[in-house]
Amino acid sequence: MGRRPPSGTGDLPIARRTRTRDRDERPCDDVAPRPRASSPSHPAPQRFEIVLEHRFVDPDVRKIVKRLVRYGHEAYLVGGCVRDLLLGRQPKDFDLATSAEPEHVRSLFRNSRIIGRRFRLVHVLFHGKKQVEVATFRRTPQTDDLEEGAPIRSDNEFGSAYQDAHRRDFTINALFYDIEANQILDWVGGMQDVQRRIVRTIDDPVVRFHEDPVRLLRAIKFAGRLDLGLDPDVYEAIVSCRETLRQAARPRVAEEILRLMRGGQARRSIYIAWETGVLDVLLPELSGLLYEADHDGSPGARLWRQLDYIDRRHQDGDQLDDTVLWTLLLLETMKEACEGQRDRASAVGEFLEGLVDRLAITRRSADGMRRIVAGLPRLLSGRPGRLSRSESYPMLLDVAEADRISEGRSIKVLEQLRREYHAGPRDREPDTDE
Ligand code: ATP
Ligand code: MG
Repeated sequence: MGRRPPSGTGDLPIARRTRTRDRDERPCDDVAPRPRASSPSHPAPQRFEIVLEHRFVDPDVRKIVKRLVRYGHEAYLVGGCVRDLLLGRQPKDFDLATSAEPEHVRSLFRNSRIIGRRFRLVHVLFHGKKQVEVATFRRTPQTDDLEEGAPIRSDNEFGSAYQDAHRRDFTINALFYDIEANQILDWVGGMQDVQRRIVRTIDDPVVRFHEDPVRLLRAIKFAGRLDLGLDPDVYEAIVSCRETLRQAARPRVAEEILRLMRGGQARRSIYIAWETGVLDVLLPELSGLLYEADHDGSPGARLWRQLDYIDRRHQDGDQLDDTVLWTLLLLETMKEACEGQRDRASAVGEFLEGLVDRLAITRRSADGMRRIVAGLPRLLSGRPGRLSRSESYPMLLDVAEADRISEGRSIKVLEQLRREYHAGPRDREPDTDE
């Protein structure tokens, strides 16, 4: 027998709570077991009767679930999409987890393909570019394969729904939604944390952060982007484990830094990274500036306003290029590196040399950053000349706008240049170094 849901599930913005008996006159725990149900030795989940509004869930995702279930498999919506739906946000995408192994999933959907070597997943493809990811339940490698707290290198063992929930990082990311039964399955106390709006790891945060230090940045991302609190133990573990980030795969760290800035809450996210000392580890150049952001005209104060600019553009529905995000994050430090230098492009190039490697900034972004910072003075003079035909010009306009605003100066000239750019011919010259 599963435990009864705790009384009161809070006010979920888009969810309707119903008592199970109102709906079908039988308790949730009596829901007929599906053919390959979780191993009987696993505890049953708490079940919450939640009707998520249909308009929020993609109809193609429903079709996939229906078909998998019809063929005797378990299938649930999982991860970020369930969390976002419960928090009243439209998910970016929908992920499904199932008891069916990749070959079975593949055989059920003609328009599908198996991808990935480390994790074999199935992408079910639809018209346009839409694809839905279907992953077979996985478990964390057994302790014999893994020293406690050691980084996880392989994560490709199939498992049960219970095990799949437990291998996830945060309780709010480990909720499973059964579309057909309108139930949330919760093995980890995630519903309560959604209601309390808190980021909490599944099990000991110190162990979970040592297993995968990128989780530490993910905690900051969710707290920042979704305006959630960090559980005090998680907060402490972020502070005490931050040095482990040096061992994390650099491209993954770079991607998470970009995600901190892309989610519409760049300022808050970077603030948390700074406050927890994570920025000292990843970007000591920046944390130094921020410690001195005491007066309005200081580079640190300008950096906060540049992050505000990123958030405002996100609110307006604009997606800034990754090169622009990197440039804005490092703009003040790059400007400092250019001080007194005649050749700004070389000065920035030199400054970026170590950083590019340390942060796995792509060559494309690094080249773009160099050109943007070198071209800024010319653009800000209002006479961009040939620059206005270069491919990186729109990015230059973004950065120049943020720079001006952060200095409390007018952007009239830049607005005019942007209008001219949009009205002008589309042919652009490839970027060159003059
Ligand atoms: P976003 O909205 O940024 O995509 P997300 O929660 O969907 O957030 P993904 O990176 O898409 O994040 O991952 C999907 C799910 O996979 C997560 O919700 C989580 O359950 C699990 N997951 C992702 N990364 C990790 C990790 N490093 N450790 C454990 N579980 C993870
Ligand atoms: Mg996701």
